[in-house]
Amino acid sequence: MSNSRRLTFFTGENYEVPLDTGCTGCFIHQNINNLPAIFRPVFDRNGIRILQDNEVAVPGLYIISPIEHYDSINNFPIELYNTFSHARFHLMKVMKQFLGDDLLMVQTHSEGRLSGNAHYHEWFIPYWKSIADKYKIVPKIYLPKGRPGFDNYIADIYGYMQLFKYNKKTKQRIQKYNQLLTKYFNEI
Ligand SMILES: [Zn+2]
Repeated sequence: MSNSRRLTFFTGENYEVPLDTGCTGCFIHQNINNLPAIFRPVFDRNGIRILQDNEVAVPGLYIISPIEHYDSINNFPIELYNTFSHARFHLMKVMKQFLGDDLLMVQTHSEGRLSGNAHYHEWFIPYWKSIADKYKIVPKIYLPKGRPGFDNYIADIYGYMQLFKYNKKTKQRIQKYNQLLTKYFNEI
C-alpha cells in the first residue's frame, strides 16, 4: 500500500504528500506561502485558517481548519475551539452578505473520524441556485421525494462539485470572493 497521497489542485499543481510524516491538511498549512495565491487564507488568526478548497473549483467553497493537527474537534483546546467558532460564525455571515442573490444556502460538512489519521476541517459548500437548476443537481445530503419544484432533481454533493470547471471566469470569481472575505475579516 502506498504511503503517500497525490494531491492535485484544480489550478494544476501536483504534490506527493507522505502520509507517514504528516497529512494533507498539515502539508497545506506548512506550505501555505508556496501555494498559488488563490489559496491564500482569507482568515488566519490564532491558529485557525479559512481558505478556498484546493481540489474542487467551486467559487465560494471554503474550508476552515486548525493549522495544528487535531483528529477531531473534541480534542481542540477550548481557546482554539472559540476561534474556530468565531471564524465559522463570521464566514456564514459574510457569505450571506456578499456572495449574491444566487446563493441559496450553505451546506456545512465535517468528518469526525474515529480511527486513522485525519486533520479536522469543515467544508462550507455553497448552493448556487442557477447551477443547481441548470443541471438538476442539488448539493444536499438528500432531497425528499415529491418536493414541489424539484421533479427530476437529485441530491449529489460530489456530482454538483464536479460541475465547476476551472477557467478564467471561475478564477476571477474565486479571486473576487477571496478579496471580499479578506477585507471583511480584516475589519472585524
Ligand atoms: Zn494534519
